[in-house]
Amino acid sequence: MNVSDSERISSVLARQGYEMIDNEASADVVIFNTCSVREKAEQKLYTRVGHIRHSDRPKPVVGVMGCVAQLEGETLLKKIEGVDFVLGTRAIGRVADAIAKTLKFEEPVVDLGEREVDYDWTVADKYRHSPFVAFLPIIEGCNKFCTYCIVPFSRGRERSLPASEIIRQVLELRRKGVKEVHLIGQNVNSYRPPTDSGLEGFAGKSPFSRLLRAVAATGIERVKFTTSFPRDFHDDIVEAIETHDNLCNWIHLPVQSGSSRVLAAMKRGHTVEKYLAKIDRIKASYKDVALTTDIIVGFPSETEEDFQQTVRLVEYCGFDSAYIFRYSPRPGTPAYELQDDVSHEEKTRRFIELERSQKYMQNRRLQRYVNKVLKVLVERKSTRTSSGLSGHSTCQKVVNFVGKEDMIGSIVDVKITEIKANSLFGEAV
Ligand code: SAH
Ligand code: SF4
Repeated sequence: MNVSDSERISSVLARQGYEMIDNEASADVVIFNTCSVREKAEQKLYTRVGHIRHSDRPKPVVGVMGCVAQLEGETLLKKIEGVDFVLGTRAIGRVADAIAKTLKFEEPVVDLGEREVDYDWTVADKYRHSPFVAFLPIIEGCNKFCTYCIVPFSRGRERSLPASEIIRQVLELRRKGVKEVHLIGQNVNSYRPPTDSGLEGFAGKSPFSRLLRAVAATGIERVKFTTSFPRDFHDDIVEAIETHDNLCNWIHLPVQSGSSRVLAAMKRGHTVEKYLAKIDRIKASYKDVALTTDIIVGFPSETEEDFQQTVRLVEYCGFDSAYIFRYSPRPGTPAYELQDDVSHEEKTRRFIELERSQKYMQNRRLQRYVNKVLKVLVERKSTRTSSGLSGHSTCQKVVNFVGKEDMIGSIVDVKITEIKANSLFGEAV
């Protein structure tokens, strides 16, 4: 989400004649796009702004955007000297305005927008992480209020983009040469558009599975989506993936914990059993769907036994990869009121143990790709080897392989010869 927002911010500015440069020291404007899911973002921000302020070059315009900006608003100006504008999560479209105002009036600008009414569906064009892959926000905000999470406060209530608009965007991206769209949102499968327009005639129980089928029907070569919320994840999504070749075989389904007691304390709305039933259905698919997840260790009151249940869940599920986090108390969330009673050392121990189990399972799981041919969208020259290329498979693996440079931008068959820690290696066939 954060990468997508940064691409959107720079693309909006490009439309006003700005250009993105790599070198912070010679930039006229420096924008920090912040995240507040875990601690430390703010601290990093103080250090980085301080660094700019104390350097001997002419001071650039400094802006803070993203979740820290939304949550702190005007107080950021008091906390950090040298910030010229603070723009909330829904004010991306007004960033050029904020810069112009800062320059004209020489006083700080704060624009947090109206979180409940102001939505921003800008799609990045000029600046994207790949010319062939595009993020497309389809739902903003979050209504789930998991007890540990700041997102519902920083991003406001859920709002879905009408399907007809999503389809229009996909067709336009396709016309511009994009091969793969990622439908993104905090919980894409909670998608609930204001009207049915664009979804008429598509099968599926939930609006999201109907949307998947509608997007597949545009003929775009690949469709991926993230993140899925377990409680709202139903079989119709897997059925849509099974029906359409261009719906990719990858599902990111964050479980957070392997203990139903902890899940209840987190207010996730699912038990371990319900989660595993969904995993079983996904695994039964003939499409060999890659599964990834997020896990938090050291949530308040998590015991060794709760944690061991998480280890067992990881062993059972055989995730292709997992993002593991140490619980970080966020002021303003319900869990912040609980005692953060798992020590930092213990969180770290659990983190390392879980990471070890996951890596072991991951390596075993990835072996199934050896000698298989995967379809890879070739995105760039590989930074690893001089003659290599790099791209992603339909199952969202980074694949480095030996091939010809003119393959960049196309989808090629690659035979996998080796498994690395976080990528696959192979050769074009
Ligand atoms: N909407 C997505 C996740 C968004 S946040 C979902 O519900 O799955 C991304 C991940 O950050 C979460 O899945 C969670 O694992 C982690 N996270 C969120 N708040 C956290 C906190 N306070 N401490 C540690 N990790 C956290
Ligand atoms: Fe946070 Fe839960 Fe919403 Fe995900 S679903 S963004 S974890 S509150």
